[in-house]
Amino acid sequence: MKILCIGRNYAEHIAELNNERPSEPVVFLKPDTALLKDNEPFYHPDFSNDIHHELEIVLKISKVGKNIDVKFAHRYYEEIGLGIDFTARDLQSKLKEKGLPWEKAKAFDSSAPISKFVPKSNFEDLKKINFQLEINGETRQKGNTEMMLWNFDEIIAEVSKYFTLKTGDLIFTGTPAGVSKVAIGDKLVGFLEESEMFSFEIK
Ligand code: ZN
Repeated sequence: MKILCIGRNYAEHIAELNNERPSEPVVFLKPDTALLKDNEPFYHPDFSNDIHHELEIVLKISKVGKNIDVKFAHRYYEEIGLGIDFTARDLQSKLKEKGLPWEKAKAFDSSAPISKFVPKSNFEDLKKINFQLEINGETRQKGNTEMMLWNFDEIIAEVSKYFTLKTGDLIFTGTPAGVSKVAIGDKLVGFLEESEMFSFEIK
């Protein structure tokens, strides 16, 4: 399986990193070794002093597809969950400066913790889902899918132009504003609407 990620999909997050607003979605990948499941702890790597949390809604692809039309994209996922796109911001800034690929900063081991998944039919309107991240009991990131530049169906249409989607692939759909550094000892809890989806520690 593969993990596809969308960058710069929420205007306020683009602004907080002083990035340009893209004319098409920014796409990058993480390998399967980036996955972290079942509320396992995240072990802070020693190659970075600035690991940021990026809370994102994650789509689980339910059937194979290529060049999927926006109007059929909803047929390609049945469940959604939450994930953290952990980012070594110090490394990423250096790579970006030199125009180099981001993998070392974005695709390292355990850089993609994911929650359990729930049926999308649990949600009245997929274009209006609230989600948030609490760290040590304090709200640190809060988003709503209505703030996305590209919605779920548009993302599926776009990425499937380049990458065949396979059952079990995951798509991280971008982070809202509020990204910041995590520290050893932090406890991260993610919510989709009112439901707690994950809870794990930084070790
Ligand atoms: Zn991200």
